Amino acid sequence: MSSPLTQASLDAYWMPFTANRQFKQAPRLLARADRMHFWTPEGRPVLDGIAGLWCVNAGHARPRIVQAIQAQAAELDFAPPFNMGHPLAFELAGRLVEIAPKGLNKVFYTNSGSESVETALKMAIAYHRARGEGQRTRLIGRERGYHGVNFGGISVGGMVANRKMFGTLLTGVDHLRHTHDPRNLFSPGQPEHGADLADDLERLVALHDASTIAAVIVEPVAGSTGVLLPPKGYLERLRALCDKHGILLIFDEVITGFGRLGSPFAATHFGVTPDLMTTAKGLTNGTVPMGAVFTTQKIHDTFMTGPEHVIEFFHGYTYSGHPLACAAAIATLDTYAEEGLLTRAATMAEPFGAAARAMRELPNVVDVRTMGLVAGIELAPLDGQPGARAFKVFLDCWERGVLVRTTGDTVALSPPLIIEPEHVDQIFKTLTEAIRSAA
Ligand code: PMP
Repeated sequence: MSSPLTQASLDAYWMPFTANRQFKQAPRLLARADRMHFWTPEGRPVLDGIAGLWCVNAGHARPRIVQAIQAQAAELDFAPPFNMGHPLAFELAGRLVEIAPKGLNKVFYTNSGSESVETALKMAIAYHRARGEGQRTRLIGRERGYHGVNFGGISVGGMVANRKMFGTLLTGVDHLRHTHDPRNLFSPGQPEHGADLADDLERLVALHDASTIAAVIVEPVAGSTGVLLPPKGYLERLRALCDKHGILLIFDEVITGFGRLGSPFAATHFGVTPDLMTTAKGLTNGTVPMGAVFTTQKIHDTFMTGPEHVIEFFHGYTYSGHPLACAAAIATLDTYAEEGLLTRAATMAEPFGAAARAMRELPNVVDVRTMGLVAGIELAPLDGQPGARAFKVFLDCWERGVLVRTTGDTVALSPPLIIEPEHVDQIFKTLTEAIRSAA
């Protein structure tokens, strides 16, 4: 049990991505969690509408996962990952490859989404170099993309707030246009308009020449920038253009991986396979930090050509394939398999999506975007201040016992995949009241 919060400890913690001064005037604390709920230190239940932070896909405190972590901590707490191994790291890789999109049969471990992104970007550049195309170093991201917070990720990312504080970012980076097309407002499922936006890659090829471009990175569904769904045909077109120009395609599946859309991965869902795929979050159900980059035999084998005693890829982390994370991930995959969670969002998408789309009747709702068990409800700014109305709604929902998330003017929802109809009702009833009172 934790001791009561003192002013000194409140002051000591510089919180990430938080309005610290405002938060510390009225801290919002979570002390316990089980399945679909959190509880505050005072014992007030809060329904989790966002799976923690898009990660607790099987719901909180699942005994099988808890026990696996506990047992592993007692058995093998750490093993060095460089030139050494432990059985679970290999077992997990085998399990992951079984559910991965066909063709992605190699797994490289990291500790977070941000690290997965850096790893994939470095792999892409090093792959071209290993094939004698060392001039292919340019990276192409997308406006309104989010790829974590490390320098590579914010460079290819397209969120000005995350970039402008940090001076010169990676050079040799360019961006595709984002896919948010006003013609698609309130479209059910995948938007009709905007497949041609993938042709923006041809503009960048004409500008830079394909021979300088290593990779394109996109989120199949952009979560952290307001739940932007790919227009029909967009990802397919991007795949075709990358193939045409010898450019690698990276899908950042940190949010969409592990069942969010109703298929194990967005790549499976949309039937488009990237060359590299970044994951994290749902990999361990949010319990122990872990990420993984998936790639192809071809990319992997390109690195395996030098003398056998020489390290093939000069990259990795002290905690790559950490035993606790591997144990947590294996127990998570067992839970997903046993309960059919990697496809459950496909079943729940109907009631969830219908309830989300009903929000369009409320005042100040500008758009509703939803697919699988993810939804974005975009609100008009309050008094001309971007994000203010959505943040008010977030605070009100918290008071009313539902945790939602805001990204700019959008209220984002991504509940645990074990969600039941009564939870859907509670989330949207609460949201309705909060949106009404923020009018
Ligand atoms: N990529 C995407 C698409 C994400 O949504 C996130 C996190 N929301 C990240 C990368 C970064 O992950 P992390 O916070 O684990 O570093």
